[in-house]
Amino acid sequence: MLPISITKATALKEKPTDESKLGFGKIFTDHMFLMDYEEGRGWYDARIVPYANFSLDPATTVFHYGQAIFEGSKCYRRADGGLQLFRPQDNLARMTRSAKRMGMPALDEETALEGLKQLILIEKDWVPHQEGTSLYIRPTMIATDVMLGVHAARHYLFYIILDPVGSYYKDGLKPVGIYVEDEYVRAVRGGTGFTKCAGNYAASILAGAIAEEKGFSQVLWLDGVEQKYVEEVGSMNMMFAYGSKIVTPALNGSILPGITRQSVLTLARQLGYETVETRLAIDDIFADAKSGKLTEAFGTGTAAVISPVGSLCRKDETIVIGDGNIGPVAQKLYDTLTGIQYGRIPDENNWIVRLS
Ligand SMILES: *Cc1c(COP(=O)(O)O)cnc(C)c1O
Repeated sequence: MLPISITKATALKEKPTDESKLGFGKIFTDHMFLMDYEEGRGWYDARIVPYANFSLDPATTVFHYGQAIFEGSKCYRRADGGLQLFRPQDNLARMTRSAKRMGMPALDEETALEGLKQLILIEKDWVPHQEGTSLYIRPTMIATDVMLGVHAARHYLFYIILDPVGSYYKDGLKPVGIYVEDEYVRAVRGGTGFTKCAGNYAASILAGAIAEEKGFSQVLWLDGVEQKYVEEVGSMNMMFAYGSKIVTPALNGSILPGITRQSVLTLARQLGYETVETRLAIDDIFADAKSGKLTEAFGTGTAAVISPVGSLCRKDETIVIGDGNIGPVAQKLYDTLTGIQYGRIPDENNWIVRLS
């Protein structure tokens, strides 16, 4: 593991006073963690420094060829005031898998985890207290060679920034309407769908904007070849409940292997639900919703944990799932997983890393 140097900020920002107005992705803390990479030398100069702008040459390769990957996880405050992370090693391991696909170097996961822990302890007063709030963690890796030409870069920057975020659900878990995208696709077999690379999100923005214009909160992506099979939603994996059976698309290389997805599947089995990972035709989902066999649909992801889906719209057809309220399966999984994350329920799966 690399040594980590610390330079404290001399002037601190004012912390938000009203935690009910935190929102997401707008406020960043006083410090950040950085480390550099050079081919032949490896990772070096791990450091915590005051949060500040980067100065990058306009020819820096990340701006042109998009070698950029990121991660997302959270630090939670327990009722006793202590802080804890949820499966942080899994996020860093996923970043290395993303890096490999993008021709980027494997992350020094050990130094990154230690840097994250030290950074959060310096920023501990930024972790909000209110029910449902947390400190969002955004690790990022970018190519920093200065040159034009499509090649793997020889230099990279890894950094972590922190963002206090508000409760996703201020008035309980309200189901959302989702638009089934049947023109654009997000990913194909052999592509980058399983990575959190910036380009995947750039490619999704147009469809998201069109769906929003139509009044839907998110897009449900279908497979990139036949556009028949359910892949995932925006930044969430999809699950469907048939009574006490939970069905979700299998990891096929084009969907993102969500840590929430894997955690929910594990908890579901421990709670006695049946779980199935398979290929799911959108026509079957529509037919099963109409016949009443399909009882619930919900997304899983770090930001919302569980997001109930109340309706799906495809072309001119809209199906309503359940009765417009969150279903019992989604509610049980939400309560159990958030209970573990906030330290209200014992963690029997060794997922929690306590910081204080
Ligand atoms: C991040 C993300 C998810 C959810 O992953 P978690 O690890 O559960 O947060 C799902 N789909 C996409 C496309 C994502 O970017």
